[in-house]
Amino acid sequence: MAAICPECDNPLNIDTDEVEEGDTVTCDECGTDLEIVTTEPLHLVVVDGDGYDDEDDSVRHDSDDEQDE
Ligand SMILES: [Zn+2]
Repeated sequence: MAAICPECDNPLNIDTDEVEEGDTVTCDECGTDLEIVTTEPLHLVVVDGDGYDDEDDSVRHDSDDEQDE
């Protein structure tokens, strides 16, 4: 499934099998950091330190989570 960069409309090759919610990807075209909010459907938000428009949950990159290294 492909996603479109909300900043520059560049098609992003994101394999939803290889990413998970909370992951951050960088747009090759404009360099914007994008956080994956949901994988189904694939939904990205721009990470600019200004908070999130439609998700008000405190999404943090805590090392406290269950993460497979
Ligand atoms: Zn972009």
